[in-house]
Amino acid sequence: MPLPLQLPTIQNWSCHSCGGCCRQHSVEITPEERARITSQNWTADDGVPSHRPLFVRLGLFPWSPRYRLGNQADGACVFLDERGMCRIHGKFGEAAKPLACRIYPYAFHPAGGKITISLRFSCPSVVANRGKPIVEQKQELKLLEGLVVPEGAERTRPPEVAPGQRLDWPDTLKISGALDELLAEEGAPIVVKLLRALRLVDLLGQSRFEKIRGPRLSEFLQIVGLAARADVPADLATIPEPSRTGRTQFRLLAAQYARQDNFAEQAKGLRNRWRLLWAAMRFARGKGLVPRLQEPFVEVPFADLEPSFGPLPADADEILTRYLRVKVQGLHFCGRTQSGEPMVEGFQSLALVVPVVFWIARWLAAGSGRKRLATEDVARALAIADHHHGYSGAFRRPGFRGRVRLLARLDDISKLTAWYGR
Ligand code: SF4
Repeated sequence: MPLPLQLPTIQNWSCHSCGGCCRQHSVEITPEERARITSQNWTADDGVPSHRPLFVRLGLFPWSPRYRLGNQADGACVFLDERGMCRIHGKFGEAAKPLACRIYPYAFHPAGGKITISLRFSCPSVVANRGKPIVEQKQELKLLEGLVVPEGAERTRPPEVAPGQRLDWPDTLKISGALDELLAEEGAPIVVKLLRALRLVDLLGQSRFEKIRGPRLSEFLQIVGLAARADVPADLATIPEPSRTGRTQFRLLAAQYARQDNFAEQAKGLRNRWRLLWAAMRFARGKGLVPRLQEPFVEVPFADLEPSFGPLPADADEILTRYLRVKVQGLHFCGRTQSGEPMVEGFQSLALVVPVVFWIARWLAAGSGRKRLATEDVARALAIADHHHGYSGAFRRPGFRGRVRLLARLDDISKLTAWYGR
């Protein structure tokens, strides 16, 4: 039975046919979708490249083959045409496309008796808030919900708050609500709001919830919310610089977010792996030139990204606030869809995207010879970073999660946010 949808009220989106998603993402398909596309009888006369396979086999086990859509030499989907339009959509209509394509950039998350909707900010139209308000797209989203949300979703267990600490759904949603309240605060800059939210999860991570439930949890969240506000200094310049270890780990993390991982890159094979390994060594060292990881970047000295880039552009505040709020409201930072991450760890990981965005935006600005950020730098950096966040395989590995935990333990997530947000 379909569950009620909780839609983000602050977000607009319509597809503007940039074709970006069809160039970047791997589209895994079901056996039914493979059969359907095969029966569509695609030939070179339709413009589909005749020398490229329509499907690529995934997985190691011959008894359970999985497939993804094939790609062109530049990494784009085989069905993407030269105008950036989908050939399947053009010839057979939207419903003929694989489900993964129809759902993007939405993400559906069970939240007790309802489904929350979040969006992927790898889509430039999501970042720019361009299109129809999401709340006016309920009918289309109900249709997608019927296709993507499994039966029994209302029985999904809530995410843990911290390891071994699980509440029921109403109390779990009070915690995401408390985070959202801090992020929504009018008049406070994004860096201040994020530092307060990080302080809140820090306090939650130190708490035991056996006896703090129901009305007591509401009171408790009010108290820790006030403490989180009080603990962030009014003058951010008094926040210590990130530690040396924290900076090294952060550069390696930023490199993971900044790299290109489409099929054109993977097809370079061993040569590409050596290039990435060499780049990782240079990122760890943090001296000399930043290796150029993909198209928009140029080599600039690491040292040029450290001084202040002045106040953030006014729109950057709105973009990053909306980003964090849409993810928090949509529970797009923890739980089953995020490798089972508890809320505390999941939020720390999400929060790290912000200094990563500042750092990548600085790189883009410095590459254009500027020492000030423009809104466009932040918007581009966010689309690059959110392409990976919670989705790329490397981000689910213990190494990545260990890096986030280490930065949290060193209190470096807050320090990095303040340092690169200045
Ligand atoms: S099938 Fe169409 S919508 Fe899906 S990735 Fe390919 S071109 Fe894009």
